Order: sequence, then structure tokens, then C-alpha cells
Amino acid sequence: MTTLMRSVAELPLLDHHCHGVFGRDLDRAAFEANLTEAAAAHPGAGSLFDTQVGFAVRRFCAPVLDLAAHATPEDYLARRAELGHAEVTARFLGAARLGGLCVDTGFTPEALLPPAALGVAAHAPAYEIVRLEQVAEEVAATGVGAGDFANAVRERLAVRTRDAVGVKSIAAYRVGLGLAPDRPDDRTVREAAARFLATSPRRLADEVLHRFLVYCAVDLDLPVQFHCGYGDADVRLHECNPLLLTDLLRALQPAGVPVVLLHNYPYHREAGYLAQVFPHVYLDVSLATHNLGRRSVALLAEALELAPFAKLLYASDAYGLPELYHLGAVLFRHALSDLLSAGVAEDAWRPGDADRMAALVGADNAKRVYRLP
Ligand SMILES: [Zn+2]
Repeated sequence: MTTLMRSVAELPLLDHHCHGVFGRDLDRAAFEANLTEAAAAHPGAGSLFDTQVGFAVRRFCAPVLDLAAHATPEDYLARRAELGHAEVTARFLGAARLGGLCVDTGFTPEALLPPAALGVAAHAPAYEIVRLEQVAEEVAATGVGAGDFANAVRERLAVRTRDAVGVKSIAAYRVGLGLAPDRPDDRTVREAAARFLATSPRRLADEVLHRFLVYCAVDLDLPVQFHCGYGDADVRLHECNPLLLTDLLRALQPAGVPVVLLHNYPYHREAGYLAQVFPHVYLDVSLATHNLGRRSVALLAEALELAPFAKLLYASDAYGLPELYHLGAVLFRHALSDLLSAGVAEDAWRPGDADRMAALVGADNAKRVYRLP
């Protein structure tokens, strides 16, 4: 990794997809369980510090806690415990040097720091992204009947998104991305709602209802994020290729609402293709950026083979560990700087072009998509 281009080093990044962090101290098992997409450490199969992301923590996070780069996991975790979670969170969110955050508030198996507190720690404005399936599950919990379900969802979504900047679909986690293109009619939604409301627990996993929710958001003129590609063991990765959304993306194009494909790895090239051919489609390489560690340079370069520079957004997908806010940012800065400065060295573009592309990818694309000030 080379010295960062000045325009990339100084740029406040807009993190358009991230989550809360834990408000508690973590032992080694809990830290390792949240370092990768594995649900837990792998007892008897080695340490999850011996991964690309583990080495990136030791290389880039240790100095933020006043340790030498490449500190051992034992020294790193001891220093972390000594400083305490509040100080560790403040240091990493500050070190990320963000210009703003769009926080997905829909996944909270335990209480996490809310957007306002994340914004304070990051010294940047924090905005909310509302998870569509959560709104539908909240409506189901009110005891509504199948006939009133569609209207109740529309009304609740309008209220819940009043101060939000976008919504997110986790259809990938529940049914995969093979969604049909058309807006489902009232009768189809009512029949699907009856099936959903008869289940217990009410965990929405119905192709019609995921699609209905997307159209509800489009009717509210809200940018729609889709989880795509890489995720934890709950996804069936082969059903999360963003190309499966092709027909739906084509159907949504006339509405003009931005659709943002999140994560995408290992289908980031496919996502880049979709972003090239559809004017309303955007992508990021979040989550994979920190998990790939030093290989995130290749990841970003591959995503930007086809994707126009005006279509790629920065995101960390940090969740739980505040380290992931910093790692996402530092690895993305290195990847972007390497890509742009190599292009300058090869006379593929001029230094002024490189600075302009850095500003687009680092912040301006996200500001445009989510209409941020
Ligand atoms: Zn996420």
C-alpha cells in the first residue's frame, strides 16, 4: 500500500450503510464472533484473528488504541478492555473521519448505539434507513387482518420514514433475490398477508410481500437498498446474486427512484454491470471491504471495471464492533487511492480527474442519492 492521495486522505467519507455498535465490553470469544460473518469463534479450528480482517485490525486498529501496528491479539484485546467500550467507540468513529452516516436501524438482536449517538461519536450528521420487513412485522403485531394489511403497512411506512432518508429490503435473507418484476395486485397481497399473519413467529418471508414493500417505498419516492451477496450463514449466497433482480430493476426504472445494491461480493462485477446499464442503480462493496483486508484493493478495482464512478458509494456496513467503522474507511481510502493514483501514473486520467472521482465515490454520490444537505 502506497501513500494516500491527498484528496482521498482529506475527504470526509459519507458512510451510506452502517449499523449501531455494542454499548458493552467484549471478551475474546465475543470479539471474534463479531469480527467476520461467522456466528461464533471456531473452537478447535484456529483463531479468527488469522484472517484478512484480523490482520487488518492488528495493522490499522492497534495504533488508534496507542499500540504499535501489528500488536498481538492478546495485547490488542487487553488494551481495548483497559480503555473501555465508550472510549474505544469514540476513537474509532473519530478515526474513520466521516462526513455523515446513514444508519440501518432494523437489525437489533441486542440494543445498539442509536444513530444520534453514533453521529456524536463520529462528529457527523447521522440519518436513518428504515428496514421494510421490520415495518411489516410491526404491523402484523398490531393484530390487523389480512384485508387491512396493505393499507396499514402503507400508513405505518409513511410515518416511520418521515425523518428517514431511505429504506432497505432484506428479501435476500428471507426468500432470495429472485423477485418477480410486477407490482402485486390487492388480491395477491391480501392472500399473501393471510399466509404471513397465520405464521408464528411472524417472520416475513414471502416473495409477494417483499415485492409489495419495495413498491410501497417507491410510491413514497424513497431510495431502496437491497442486501445483495455476502452475508452471514443465514443467507443462501447463490440466491443473493444481484443479477436475479434484473427484471425488477427494469420494472422500477420508470419510477426513477434510486436502487442501491449493498455489499454484492462476490458478485460485485455483476452489480457493476447493473449500475452501468440501469440509470437508477447504484452499488457499494461494503462488508467485503474490511473482510477482504488488503485484497480490498482488487475488490474496488473490480467493482469499478464497469460501474460508472458516479454510481459507486462508500459504506462500511459496520455492525457491533466500532473497529469496523475505521477499518472500512481506511481500507477503502487505500483502495481508492491506489486505483486512482495508478491511473494517473499510467496516464489513464489526469490528477484533476482523479480528485474529482474521489469526491464522487467518497461522498457526493451518496449525497445525491439520499438528497443529503
Ligand atoms: Zn448491513
